[in-house]
Amino acid sequence: MTTNGEVIDVLLVEDNPQEADIVRLYLAKRHAHIYRLTHVRSIDQALTAIAGERSPGVILLDLHLPGARGLEGFERLAAEVRGVPIIILTNCDEERIAAQAVRGGAQDYLVKREVNAALLHRAIVYAIERQRAERDLIKVKERYALAVEGANDCIWDWDAVSGQAYFSPRWNELVGLENETTVGDLDDWFKRVHPKDIAELKGLMIPPVSGDRNHFEHEHRLRHENGDYIWVYARGVVLTDGGDSAVRMAGSISSITKRKQTERQLMHRALHDALTGLPNRVLFIDRLMQALRRYKRNPALQFAVLYFDLDGFKIVNDSLGHSAGDSLLVSIARRLKSVIRPGDTVARMGGDEFAVLVADIEDEQDIAQVSERIHHLFEREFSVAGRGMYSSASIGIAVITEQYNSPEELLRDADLAMYRAKRSDTEGTVIFDQTMHQAAVSRLNLETDLRRALAQGEFAVFYQPIVTLAERRIVAFEALLRWRHPTKGVLSPSSFLAVVEDSGMLSALSWWVLEEACRQAHSWRNLFPDGETLGVSVNVSANMFREVQSVQRVKDIVRQSGIRPKDLSLEITERDCMDHGDAIKVALRSLREHGIKLHMDDFGTGYSSLSYLQRCTYDSLKIDRSFVQTIHSETHSVSVVKTIVGLGRMLNMNVVAEGVESQDQLDTLLSLDCPEAQGYWFSEPVPPTQIGRLIREAWCLPQL
Ligand code: C2E
Ligand code: CA
Ligand code: CA
Repeated sequence: MTTNGEVIDVLLVEDNPQEADIVRLYLAKRHAHIYRLTHVRSIDQALTAIAGERSPGVILLDLHLPGARGLEGFERLAAEVRGVPIIILTNCDEERIAAQAVRGGAQDYLVKREVNAALLHRAIVYAIERQRAERDLIKVKERYALAVEGANDCIWDWDAVSGQAYFSPRWNELVGLENETTVGDLDDWFKRVHPKDIAELKGLMIPPVSGDRNHFEHEHRLRHENGDYIWVYARGVVLTDGGDSAVRMAGSISSITKRKQTERQLMHRALHDALTGLPNRVLFIDRLMQALRRYKRNPALQFAVLYFDLDGFKIVNDSLGHSAGDSLLVSIARRLKSVIRPGDTVARMGGDEFAVLVADIEDEQDIAQVSERIHHLFEREFSVAGRGMYSSASIGIAVITEQYNSPEELLRDADLAMYRAKRSDTEGTVIFDQTMHQAAVSRLNLETDLRRALAQGEFAVFYQPIVTLAERRIVAFEALLRWRHPTKGVLSPSSFLAVVEDSGMLSALSWWVLEEACRQAHSWRNLFPDGETLGVSVNVSANMFREVQSVQRVKDIVRQSGIRPKDLSLEITERDCMDHGDAIKVALRSLREHGIKLHMDDFGTGYSSLSYLQRCTYDSLKIDRSFVQTIHSETHSVSVVKTIVGLGRMLNMNVVAEGVESQDQLDTLLSLDCPEAQGYWFSEPVPPTQIGRLIREAWCLPQL
């Protein structure tokens, strides 16, 4: 028995001096060093003693005191000394009252006649410990009550005996009840659970077949007073009687509506495009997969994939900035949403690419309608970066057939068809067919061939003279790319240039032609004893001037070749010029300031405005050969040529007619005062080795 060595202050309230002496004796007997006894004779004295500085550690109270009948004395004292254990000393005839006192808060009672030193000591120590334990328990309870009150969770508890349930006040907040409402029944919970969730929840709470303790957790929806459902997470423990009935259940319910919302948002974000809010590629492929599965089960459930990107979207981005590009995409997405049928899916596949899954089609008419509607939505103007603009799309379509086994195959073919549509001048929509697959395969082979050609130096530059019509004098040569194919012979760019461009090799190839042509042009000086020079025209793509340092690179090439800047002309097509942004114009202008000349190629096929021509200042306009070749068959061709020649004169630009093949064409051009021309009539493009011969013939120079 331990008292931790503390001194215990004992307040003895006893009117009988002999009995007080006995108590003193007992306490002193073995534990004199522990006890410090204060003896008073009445309740009043006891109260005075308590009011002193130190409250006693224990009170021994005689029940039989003068002026205090029955429990009266105990009650007065107990009211004053909360927290101090009281032990009742009683005679055997008062045991009943003593027991009452214990129920009223006394720690214990001792029958005087039965007390001995050991018993008294033990009773005191126990009383003190019990009192402490009770105090601690109260603290724990208070702490628990505070925790429940402060917790975000509703704490609940159900008891089989009473059939009653307790739900902490947080419940009311969770479901939006008035604060006064009390919940006393498990059904108050269950009847709020979503019909789809209740069976599962109850299933978890039914006692387990084995074991007497069952933990469960469950997420479900609860009906809020406002009619909405909130998400909660309930966890609890079920205690059973060892059999299959629960005797007690308790647990907590917490709101997880926020977490669910976040989960939903994350899910949405993972499957949708942040900019337009449309489904993204992942979700589209998933839907496609579902459609494919349905089709495999029932081939009557046909569907199609429409794939398209925006024609010339890069230009919008490059010239107006990315936020303008973004805003165009958003507008297009909005219009797309409004034209697709419910049940169809429209997705942004990345960049400026979109796809539509057209479900439940009966014939091609259905698909045609959707593609019509998409083309139609591009007919209205878009408002981007404060200005109106137009956009258009080339659509490729793949329709489900038995051959398809994966969404990727369908997308690949729709993409191929789109590529076709893009290349076509007349068709905005192309439906995939098997021949396209063949074409794609041979294209792929061609691309592989081209890479090899570049690596093994199979490319060559041929030259075609440009001649003054009045004097028939060669003033320059146009450099034209050729591919000396190991098996197919010398190939013209028309058969491979598009693939070169798509595979990203065009720029490298064009730089190579430029270097080659400048080197050649320098070597022609040796053909003239008096140092006469010839110009060289090189075809360039506007893309080359996207590269930083491209202007410097051209200047370097010219300098290193040893020709003068004015001996070089760069030919750029009218279309290419218009399709590109200000950066290219700046580059071209700075080259021109350096002395290099600019030719606008294929003039008449694009839609250059006069003001554009003036702004960009070219040195020459090259009349597209389609006009020269139809100069006698189509009346408007003559007027186009006439107009261009007049335009050149007006703007002080040289004009070159391309593709002159006959004397008649030449005569007409002469009569229209066209200054220069080129074409098979003068010479086909020739390899560099034949240039000496051409020049000698033109100048009738003696053989060197
Ligand atoms: P282009 O710049 O309009 O070149 C003129 C084309 O007309 C050349 O075709 C030339 O061989 C052809 N031609 C010349 N005279 C006649 C004629 O009397 N009748 C006919 N029917 N055609 C004639 P080529 O060499 O096949 O080049 C086609 C196009 O490829 C060129 O059109 C040019 O845009 C492009 N190209 C050629 N070489 C290069 C190059 O090195 N770089 C780049 N970026 N493009 C090039
Ligand atoms: Ca040209
Ligand atoms: Ca041309």
